[in-house]
Amino acid sequence: EEDPRINSIRTKIRVVPNFPKQGIDFLDITTLLLDPKVFKNTIDMFVERYKNKNISVVAGIEARGFIFGPPIALAIGAKFVPLRKPRKLPGEVISEEYTLEYGSDCLEMHVGAVQHSDRALVVDDLVATGGTLCAAMNLLERAGAEVVECACVIELPALKGRERLNGKPLYILVEYH
Ligand code: AMP
Repeated sequence: EEDPRINSIRTKIRVVPNFPKQGIDFLDITTLLLDPKVFKNTIDMFVERYKNKNISVVAGIEARGFIFGPPIALAIGAKFVPLRKPRKLPGEVISEEYTLEYGSDCLEMHVGAVQHSDRALVVDDLVATGGTLCAAMNLLERAGAEVVECACVIELPALKGRERLNGKPLYILVEYH
């Protein structure tokens, strides 16, 4: 039985065909943010799942993980750590490169942001191939944290991103087929 909040979330996600290039359906969550009740439902669903799981750090992936991650972190009493594109973080960083359909990208995290005892939740808006979440998990694990789970609003199941997560659980609210 589906939580009635799920359908309101699904309805508020806008599909933009052929953005940023031909053949890509871009799933736009900015339309969800315009409805405070639905935005709150989205955050609440994650908070209900993670509030009693001893999560000590929420790691948000630039850029849309910076929208969903911080309200979750505040509500469950965890610290927030931004995982950023290269050359954005001013302090000493560790980096993870990952491959895209064309070329490669990279995520960075500040050294000292997480401890060996930390239990981490990774947050982004959407999982496609899983490469981004995989790089994020590698950063946290290299720093000694335990990744408890990854959480996204949307999954594109056709791209089989789950298979790149090495069995790590992935929680999503909406599938887009
Ligand atoms: P991936 O690494 O292939 O799982 O891609 C996930 C990352 O790319 C996330 O940060 C998403 O925000 C972004 N992304 C990939 N595909 C889409 C899409 N169709 N619509 C919106 N964002 C996307």
